[in-house]
Amino acid sequence: MPLQPLISGREAPVTHYVIHSFASLCAAAVLFMTPARVFAQAAAFGPSNPFYAPSTLPFHAPPFDRIKDSDYQPAIEAGMAQQIQEIEAIASDPAAPTFENTFVAMEKTGRLLARSLQTFSAVASANTNPTIQGVQSAIAPMLAAHYDAIYLDAKLFARVKAVHDNAANLHLDPESQRLVNIVYDEFIHAGAALRDADKEKLKKINEEASTLEDKFQRALLADTKKAAFVTTDRSSLAGLSDAQIAAAAQLAESRKVQGFVIPLQNTTQQPDFAELSDRATREKIFQNGWTRSEQTDGDLRPVIARLAQLRAQKAQLLGYPNYAAWVLEDQMAKTPQAVMDFLNQLIPPATAKAKSEAQEIQAVIDAQHGGFTLQPWDWDFYAEQVRKAKYDLDESQVKPYFEINNVLENGVFYAAHELYGLTFAERRDIPVWQPDVRVFEVHDADGKPLALFYCDYFKRDNKNGGAWMSSFVDQSRLLGNLPVVYNVANLPKPVPGQPALISADDVRTMFHEFGHALHGMLSNVEYPTLSGTNVPRDFVEFPSQFNEHWATYPAVFQHYAKHYQTGAPMPADLVEKLRKSHDFNQGYSLTELLSASMLDMQWHTLGAGAPLEDVDAFEKNALEKSKVDLAAVPPRYRSTYFLHIWANGYAAGYYAYQWTEMLDDDAYQWFEENGGLTRANGDRFRKMVLSRGNTEDLSTLYANWRGRAPKIDAMIEDRGLKEN
Ligand SMILES: [Zn+2]
Repeated sequence: MPLQPLISGREAPVTHYVIHSFASLCAAAVLFMTPARVFAQAAAFGPSNPFYAPSTLPFHAPPFDRIKDSDYQPAIEAGMAQQIQEIEAIASDPAAPTFENTFVAMEKTGRLLARSLQTFSAVASANTNPTIQGVQSAIAPMLAAHYDAIYLDAKLFARVKAVHDNAANLHLDPESQRLVNIVYDEFIHAGAALRDADKEKLKKINEEASTLEDKFQRALLADTKKAAFVTTDRSSLAGLSDAQIAAAAQLAESRKVQGFVIPLQNTTQQPDFAELSDRATREKIFQNGWTRSEQTDGDLRPVIARLAQLRAQKAQLLGYPNYAAWVLEDQMAKTPQAVMDFLNQLIPPATAKAKSEAQEIQAVIDAQHGGFTLQPWDWDFYAEQVRKAKYDLDESQVKPYFEINNVLENGVFYAAHELYGLTFAERRDIPVWQPDVRVFEVHDADGKPLALFYCDYFKRDNKNGGAWMSSFVDQSRLLGNLPVVYNVANLPKPVPGQPALISADDVRTMFHEFGHALHGMLSNVEYPTLSGTNVPRDFVEFPSQFNEHWATYPAVFQHYAKHYQTGAPMPADLVEKLRKSHDFNQGYSLTELLSASMLDMQWHTLGAGAPLEDVDAFEKNALEKSKVDLAAVPPRYRSTYFLHIWANGYAAGYYAYQWTEMLDDDAYQWFEENGGLTRANGDRFRKMVLSRGNTEDLSTLYANWRGRAPKIDAMIEDRGLKEN
């Protein structure tokens, strides 16, 4: 019963990468957690609905030429009803439970729901409108109830448990055994094994928690908006460009206030700090942001204290010492201790580097006779001066070498050809959801069709921010399905007749999302539940971040980075500047991420008996205890505006961004040690990692390929944190 989530881009670990928005980071969560507002009347569902039967297009591609907005809701509702019937038939099968009649049968259910929902999910994120949004609100609570009905079905669970408990005698192949373990754990995690009284308790906790999560999300949005910096004094905005000031004036007008409004971003640091030269303005904006959720009418501290307590109680009810232990059990890291050990290895080099960066910045302040000690709101302003002095890189010099089609075909596709032998042929006959979308049929080295790949790169107003990957069809030998996957981004669209010249960040984004796409397209597994990118959060960003490395690999870079008019390669000094700029500000950016990860872990390792915490005291103590309490380097998110962990499904999961970075750097190091970009290396990686989905314990799978467990050394070196 797999449901492919949207796989998002990275959580901007370094400043020169694209910052992906919350919307895309958690697009799936947003889609499925939207509260009920509209209960539209679903139209009748019948053979005229384009989802009624499997698509007859190549690879079962969605028939976008026939799909109307009004087709989605009836198909999704019928899909849920059909799956419940199928599940009911399995649960009440008079035959004794077997692997075939229970687990394999479950894998085959819900096909109508999958094809309608996966298509809907794509347009809801990449090409939405008020009708689609109405459908989204209507189906969210229905889907939540639908999955509860399956996972809390006592008859079904009895069969699942019977097969699971007897699995040792069944001599299943390893992938089937893995399926039994994974699906059984999903039931346990949902509370299927609880006594009825405890199921009731769990339901109450879940209800209160989801109300608080919803409240947190809404109040934070309002608090953040309210805490914007407002001024009538234009001179306080010195340093901003005329266009930025005009935008601030326009925002003031739309909010019906005098003067200028600088909105807050939901992070501690604010984008304008690099340019605002008035120190008092920076401090005011910073303080507004720091205390955004502490205003009397919108104080979120009691909300998160209670949420942390409820989560600890939920974990205890399900038999775990704390919430993190419950979350991490099915992740690659497995235990809170493993996560803590990992973070604790990174903290000393990261904070040492941040301290030396702080010294460098303080020297600039002193040289300018500033007469003050560096504070968080000064960091970006002076770091920008350090950056300009050290790595002066002008984006406009670089862009002419990054024409989008050239980057795609001679860079992204080329690397995949050199590593995995893939070739790409554009298909103009496959219907798309929007005219900008391109479709490619992907062929394997032996010429056999492998997958269908769509890309929708240009920014639109009806698209979520950021970049992501997902699929229309998951690969599965059991279902006879080849993968149909897509990438979405928000790259600037040129005016007609002009080439699309993109930034180095954008190039990286294309390689990143295509890494996810490869994970989906190269999947070669039996069961859809274990297919492609259906892997734990602390593994899913590994193939994507790994694929980014090829963007700057010399043989690939030289193949695509050519001037769009002359075809000349990028000059060596420009390449060198680009390479060097990678090391900039790494101490700061890693430290702020580690602080956030530590806050997340500390909140979610509270025991069930812990009292309601004083949020400020708890946070201060957590940072001190973790040795990430640098005065000039606050956490990327404070507890009170840490949306990822309180409302977006990343509780005890924020570390995954750094964990997968360890994996991708460690993996790339293996390639460097073994001859780099070769078919032999690529094929081995494909066979042992990319094709395997979630068919084996991921730390075992990784260690088998790497020859050992992952190490953090390559990450520390790649970030430029190695002591000389
Ligand atoms: Zn990603």
